[in-house]
Amino acid sequence: MKSIIIIGDGMSDVPIASLNGRTPLMVAHKPSIDRIAREGCSGLVRTIGETGPADSAVANLAVLGYPVATSQGRAVFEAASMGVDIKDGEVALRCNLVCLSGDPVDYRIRNHSAGHISTEEAAQLIRSLDEVLGGGKGKRPVTFHTGISYRHLLVLNGDWASPKVACTPPHDYLDGRVAELLPKLTDGITDPKEMAAAEATAMRLVDLYRRSLQVLKSHPVNVARRVKGLDEATAIWTWSPGRRPAMETLPERFDIKPAVISAVDLIMGLGVYAGMDVIKVEGATGLHDTNYEGKAEAALAALADHDMVYVHVEASDEASHSLDLDLKIKCIEYLDQRLVKIILDGLETLNLEARVSILPDHPTPVETGKHGRDPVPMAISGPGIPADRITGYDERQAAAGSLGTLEGDSFIRLAVGAK
Ligand SMILES: [Zn+2]
Repeated sequence: MKSIIIIGDGMSDVPIASLNGRTPLMVAHKPSIDRIAREGCSGLVRTIGETGPADSAVANLAVLGYPVATSQGRAVFEAASMGVDIKDGEVALRCNLVCLSGDPVDYRIRNHSAGHISTEEAAQLIRSLDEVLGGGKGKRPVTFHTGISYRHLLVLNGDWASPKVACTPPHDYLDGRVAELLPKLTDGITDPKEMAAAEATAMRLVDLYRRSLQVLKSHPVNVARRVKGLDEATAIWTWSPGRRPAMETLPERFDIKPAVISAVDLIMGLGVYAGMDVIKVEGATGLHDTNYEGKAEAALAALADHDMVYVHVEASDEASHSLDLDLKIKCIEYLDQRLVKIILDGLETLNLEARVSILPDHPTPVETGKHGRDPVPMAISGPGIPADRITGYDERQAAAGSLGTLEGDSFIRLAVGAK
């Protein structure tokens, strides 16, 4: 059974007053997405629990049928997409370059991205940080790895560290006071050994933050940015700690050959751990200007030698995080006309039979810009899927679909045709 799963990240929403109680999915013109619902059947998929993290790692893992406990935070997955292998016992953290403002004794987070610093500049800073503070040297060794723009990786080497430290995602605490937001112990650790490791980890992370201020302050990259009036990379900000996840791969679970197409490191890395081939598409940006057509063509091409292709499009989530309703609707229409249509038409032209499913990983209501917990609307069509009476795709219609609410791995089993 061939299968294409299309994820419109964060595209489901809640009724919006300015849309007369409708949602962006209800308002957007999306004939191809509606066609999947009309020709197939619909339902809801529970991807986020009522408690616990509501992040994209948990949500995309849930779509693929992995339980919430599989997620170890985003850093280990991003590491996989960067080609960094996290060994058993090691802890990986996202390492942002951030811009701080105010008095050094009472710094605040000005932005989480060091003014969207370029990868070229960031690479020089991360290299210097690794030379001075990292390189796997010392009693509690760490290594810095360069990623993209402000998004980098810190690995706590050896087995001295614990992921049980409470860290804060800097983008959620803009203008927050640094002193209150630095890594600390998580509550509820009872094991004394685990407690000692968590204490050592929190202390080491705070120490690295402090030392990063010194390394970065007089760095030529920052001096040049200061001269140009750009935001500096004042410090590192470490968050989302996790160990290497233990995951049975999709090939092992379902005897399929899967592939993933995404612009987002987290999703590509998750694909690596799930045993999917990562297919890179030029011009895939993760924003509304992404190369939709390129992704659609790549998905069709990948189907020749894969059983399942997971096509992830980030744009609708980004539009929601920017609280931009018009852009969110436009992103859904782009997804429809520039990706779903090409895939549906392409399958016909190629005379290929495949199950095609469409869903978001989680809702991102555009009025709050934060991930929601409602089950997500899903439609699926293709061989062996009888049409139900639902004729279009949105939150309300999917809730009335014949599939009801799918939990656990029922969605992925249906999508790939597993028993
Ligand atoms: Zn997401």
